[in-house]
This record gives sequence, structure tokens and C-alpha cells, in this order.
Amino acid sequence: MNCPYCGYHDSKVIDSRDVNEGIRRRRQCLSCSSRFTTYERQQLASLFVIKKDERREEFSRNKLLTGIRKACEKRPLPTGAVDKLADDIEAELYHLGKAEIPSSVIGDMVMERLKSLDYIAYIRFASVYREFADITALKQEIDSLVSNETETLYPTSQLPLLPTEELEVVAKRRHRSRK
Ligand SMILES: [Zn+2]
Repeated sequence: MNCPYCGYHDSKVIDSRDVNEGIRRRRQCLSCSSRFTTYERQQLASLFVIKKDERREEFSRNKLLTGIRKACEKRPLPTGAVDKLADDIEAELYHLGKAEIPSSVIGDMVMERLKSLDYIAYIRFASVYREFADITALKQEIDSLVSNETETLYPTSQLPLLPTEELEVVAKRRHRSRK
């Protein structure tokens, strides 16, 4: 790859590491000494997506990425989070080892991951993908998210803490009274 700054044809690799089924190389131009990064990916066997109307379409990482990006637009997500999500899904799809995958499977994968990444992005994606028929269906989805959130904030396992503490106090009192 030519240097993106001066166009020189040669560079040296100063660092390389494995990332998401590929290799990331940090390079330095032999002419202007600018540093840039290249990614090397393995060309995987072709994978086809079965659309709702049964048509087949070759899997496109870009298309997947565009859909996720749209859902995550202007959300306060760390740099690279969206790309990583697309990378993870792509890797998982190829790991399935199938030649064809229904688009619904991919949509579910995206939803599952967006759910733990960002609720607003999740709702945006779900509203397009699941085609919420009306506001009630959308509200149900949001309500289920809110109740999950509440459970996470107040895990039921913590509820018995108080009685246990009381028991300890009682035990200490008994201990003291024995002295
Ligand atoms: Zn250069």
C-alpha cells in the first residue's frame, strides 16, 4: 500500500497485532516517515443472506455496518464500538460455517448486541427491523427494557441482606450476654 501522505510505494512495519480475525499493522513510510495503519483480512468463503422474500444476496459487511451506524448515530459510544460490533457479528456468521443465513438471524444478532451497548440505538434498530406495527408494540419493547434495567440496578439477591444483618446483631447480643 502506498503512503497516504506522500504516495511513496514502500513502508516498514513497526507493529503488528491480531484483531478480530485479521491483522492490524502499524507502518512507517520509508520516504516521509509518516505513520499509518493497514488491516489485513482473510478473504472468507462467500456467504449469502436469505432475504424475507427468499431472494439471496451476498453478505456485505458494509451493509451491516451502515445499518448499525444509522442506529447508533449521535449516540455517546466509544470510538470503534460500532466497527467492533460489525466485526464480531461478521466473525460469528462465518463461524457458523453455513453458506446461507436468513437475514432474521443477522438482525437478531445485531439487536442482541445493541441491547447491551445502547438502548436508544437498540430501539432505533428494532423499530426498523422489527417494523413495530404500532406505538403499543414499541411501548411494550421499551417497558421490557426498563424492567430489565430496574432488575440490574436492584438485584433481588440483595434483598435478604437486611434480615441477615439483623440476625448478626442478634447473634452478637447473645454472644455478649453470655459473657
Ligand atoms: Zn510518505
